[in-house]
Amino acid sequence: MARPDAAACPTHRRIAMRPQLVAEPAVPFLSTPYEEFGFGPLFAALDRVEHGGRSVEQVREELRNTRGPFRGRGAPVHPVHLAWTAHALERYVAARVREQAAAAEAGLPPTLAIGQPWTWRTRRLDAPDPRGARQYEHTLWGRMYTSADGAVRDLWLPSLGRAKTSRPGAELGAVARVMAHGAPTPRRRARDEPPTGATDTSRSPALVRVFDVGCADGSVEPLLGAAPSFGEGPVEARKRFEGDAVPAFLSIATATGTRPGESCVDCKAIAGCTDLKRTPSLWGGRRPPVARKRRSVSAWDLRLYAECPAQYHLVRRLHLNDLSGENEGARRGRFVDSWLDAHHGEQPVRGCRDRAAPNPDVLRSETELDEASAREATGMLAGHRLLCPLDGLGADERVLVQHRVTAYVPELDVVVLAVPDLVYTHRGRWVWRETKTSSRPLWERDSLLRTYPQLALGVLLFHAGALGDDPRRSWVELEHLREGHGESRLERIDPGRAEIVDEARHVIAGLAQPLLEDTTYEPRAGRHCHGCLARTWCRPGSAYATDHPLPHGPGAFSSADGSEPSAELTPRGGISSND
Ligand code: SF4
Repeated sequence: MARPDAAACPTHRRIAMRPQLVAEPAVPFLSTPYEEFGFGPLFAALDRVEHGGRSVEQVREELRNTRGPFRGRGAPVHPVHLAWTAHALERYVAARVREQAAAAEAGLPPTLAIGQPWTWRTRRLDAPDPRGARQYEHTLWGRMYTSADGAVRDLWLPSLGRAKTSRPGAELGAVARVMAHGAPTPRRRARDEPPTGATDTSRSPALVRVFDVGCADGSVEPLLGAAPSFGEGPVEARKRFEGDAVPAFLSIATATGTRPGESCVDCKAIAGCTDLKRTPSLWGGRRPPVARKRRSVSAWDLRLYAECPAQYHLVRRLHLNDLSGENEGARRGRFVDSWLDAHHGEQPVRGCRDRAAPNPDVLRSETELDEASAREATGMLAGHRLLCPLDGLGADERVLVQHRVTAYVPELDVVVLAVPDLVYTHRGRWVWRETKTSSRPLWERDSLLRTYPQLALGVLLFHAGALGDDPRRSWVELEHLREGHGESRLERIDPGRAEIVDEARHVIAGLAQPLLEDTTYEPRAGRHCHGCLARTWCRPGSAYATDHPLPHGPGAFSSADGSEPSAELTPRGGISSND
């Protein structure tokens, strides 16, 4: 909660901070077909080792034999999630053993897992304070350990890929204070009121230590203090809390205003929020046969789901990450996007026609791009100079870079999230522009809306009034950038035309309905497995990648931007960067 989040909605955070406030009308508990908390099974497995006395190998065997919920509790766990848990368990325990050996060399006592988490709570007041609160309670997330004499307290914070080398000051301040002044406290059910009394702060440890641990590679990073002990005392913890965490908490507790986006998915105030645009029947979707918790859907979700339902669940929902990284095509696309965003976001607004495209040699030395990608990126940016929409744009027009467009489909209880590359106005007309980089041309035979579902989503959101007032005065544009001179093109789509809206509905319904109804998330192996961040733990995907190696290694897979249609027909017309 203390972690800054510029994209989060202030009202959502202010309300989320008050756990006794409940949604009106109340939201019923809805089970999920699979466990949706990535670390849930790992914590259950660690409990078996750290509290249950099982060996790592015994618990890995239990995980291997699990079908459904792990140890019969909670939601069923996806088979690939179970395999990830077995991997992460081994890396985590080995990392703890290494760190404890280093701590012993530094003269520190061993630390052991605690049964009750630390909590720091104030006494409940008879009347609310100026913020409307009668009591404050600070809790921790992570794995907690203490020395036998209570002098050393450790907190281990797992990360899904590699260990983070730092965390925001406000988060560390909040964590350090609970570790230094919190007391072991029995767990409560989610909505139960806390006891009225304050927690005992008289038995402070001498040293608190916080480590981040990477579940993919077992890396460990100390987040407090310096070598050799990597910790701080209660005095430093209090200073951190007062200097970094208190301002953050006060700002969250008192912030007003709304910012529709990802926050809407868990927001207790959604029923009364007038800033979240309602778009009933956005694509004419049917309610799934079994009710589910509110979800978000983006064009990227739809794209990954269409490739492989398991990939959507594992990478988009659970955020598993095997550190296989981006391929060259995705890296190149990301670089071009960030170059355009940086220049289009400048004030005063300026077009790109007179800007020099970057030099490929400089690009190579300053970015992660290889020689070919640096050359391609330079050619694409040169193509963009002639298609940039900001040249000649009036000073009173609006230009929004990476603007979030959010809509709520009430009958499906789905929050639709879209972030167009650029949105701007032109003489009263709103224009939504997506930019795609590609090594292949656009082909006449392929439907643009089908090839790029984010264009279809843009059409529907315009049509439903989620952006601008009048779809008949709007455009959705695709800027298709290629390396060669004169090969980049601009395509325009009119969201005011009924046949375009019908096609967009058809495209999104065809992608979204199976996603919303799925309860099994089966792996569907194919070429996309080469770019899947969960492949390490997925048997069908690993077998596919072994049997179908890429011609020039993993970097050769380059469809991450969805820009590689396979048909071999006439290139499309549109406005060329030569015109
Ligand atoms: S490796 Fe392939 S089959 Fe497995 S989850 Fe990823 S995309 Fe799906």
